[in-house]
Amino acid sequence: MKKSIWKQCKSKNRYRNEHEVNQYRKMYERERGKKLDYYWCVYCKGYHLTSSESFLELRYGEAL
Ligand SMILES: [Zn+2]
Repeated sequence: MKKSIWKQCKSKNRYRNEHEVNQYRKMYERERGKKLDYYWCVYCKGYHLTSSESFLELRYGEAL
């Protein structure tokens, strides 16, 4: 497990379950008028939000 990944996890919001991440997803989508996605993170065992356009660039930390 790489340290840099952990750093990313810390800088992002982490959600404990799908219900929670969906609530925030809807809220941010409304706020930004932009479609968002969420994914399960194996490093922190939680969910993170990401904009769908940068979904494939997750590994580089370009996500929300
Ligand atoms: Zn994470």
